[in-house]
Amino acid sequence: MKTYAVRGAITVKENNREQILMQTRFLLEELMKKNAIKIQDIISIIFTATSDLNTEYPAVAARELGMTSIPLICCQEMNVVGSLSKCIRVLMHVQFSEERILTPVYLGKAAILRPDLANLTVAIDGPAGAGKSTVAKLLAKKLNIMYLDTGAMYRAMGLKVIENGGDPSNRDDVIPLLESTDIAVRPNNTGQTVYLDGRDVTDKIRSSYVSKAASDVGTIPEVRKKLVRIQQQIANKFSLVMDGRDIGTYVLPYATLKVFLTASPEERARRRWKELLGRGCTVDFKTVLQEIIERDANDSNRTYAPLRKADDAVLIDSTNKSIEQVVNEIVYLMKS
Ligand code: C5P
Repeated sequence: MKTYAVRGAITVKENNREQILMQTRFLLEELMKKNAIKIQDIISIIFTATSDLNTEYPAVAARELGMTSIPLICCQEMNVVGSLSKCIRVLMHVQFSEERILTPVYLGKAAILRPDLANLTVAIDGPAGAGKSTVAKLLAKKLNIMYLDTGAMYRAMGLKVIENGGDPSNRDDVIPLLESTDIAVRPNNTGQTVYLDGRDVTDKIRSSYVSKAASDVGTIPEVRKKLVRIQQQIANKFSLVMDGRDIGTYVLPYATLKVFLTASPEERARRRWKELLGRGCTVDFKTVLQEIIERDANDSNRTYAPLRKADDAVLIDSTNKSIEQVVNEIVYLMKS
C-alpha cells in the first residue's frame, strides 16, 4: 500500500455549531470527491480550528459522515497576528494500492491560504474612476495572482467598431463584426497587454473616444455574452482579481470576495482628469465630469447586466481614502 497526505481548508461565517459542522462536512466531502477517496482509504485526520471557533469540534462532522473507527484529533491553530480568521484546516492521511496524485482543496476565503492551488476570485465592480484598476492591480500583486481588467475588453471591441467606420451604439454595425473579432489579454509586469485581432492595442484603447465606444458596445447583450464567456474561461483556470461593472452580479456570481468600489462623481472626474493630464491630453475638468456622469448613466441604465452592487458585495467608498487604505481594507476583508 502507498501512503499519502492531503491538505484542505475552509472558512466559517459564524462561530456556531451548525456552521462548523456544515462547513467541515462540506470540506471533507469535497476533498474526498475531488480525490476519489473512500472512507476505507483514510488512515487518520488532523483538524485544526482558529481560536475564534470554539462551539464544536470539527471531528464531530467526520463521525457523522461515518468515520467512526478512524483516529481523529482536533487542535487549535497557531494564533498568528493578521492570519485568516474562522478557518478549519484538515490534514488527511490516506492509503491506496495504486500510485495517486492528490489535490488539496481550499474553499471559501481559505483560498487565500494557497491562491496558487485554489481558485481564488475577487470581483471588484464600480463606476468609472472609482480606482478599481489601480486597486485591483495592487491587490493582485499582493496576493500573487492574476489581474484581469474586463473594461479593456469592451474598449478593444469599441475600438474595432470605430476602426471599421461603424457606430458603437448601433447594433447593426457591431454584431456583424463580433464573430470575426479576436480579443485576448496577457498579464504583464504592469497589468495586462490587450490584443485586438493579434495587434497590441493596450495604449490605443485608453483615449476618451474609446471609453465612450466601450460603454456603447457594452449595452449590446451579444457583445457581453461573448466577452463574459472569455472572462469566465480565464477565471476557471487562474486565481485572479477581476474588475468591471458586472463581475459580482453576472460574471463571477460565486466569487470568493465581492467589492463594490465607488467615489463621488466629482472625485472620480478629478482622478480621471489628472490621469489624462499626466498622459499629455489637454481636457477641461467639466468635460471629464460630464463624460463620467454620462458613462455612469449608460452603464447603470442598460437593460442587460447593468452596473449595480451585488447583494453580497462589500461597499467601499474611496472618496477620502488612499489606494493603500482601500487595498488593505480588501485584504482585511479576505482574511476576516
Ligand atoms: O473600466 P473601464 O473604464 O475601462 O471600462 C470601459 C467601459 O466598458 C465602461 O464604461 C463600461 O461601459 C464597459 N464595461 C462593462 N462591463 C465590464 C467592464 C467594462 O460594461 N465588465
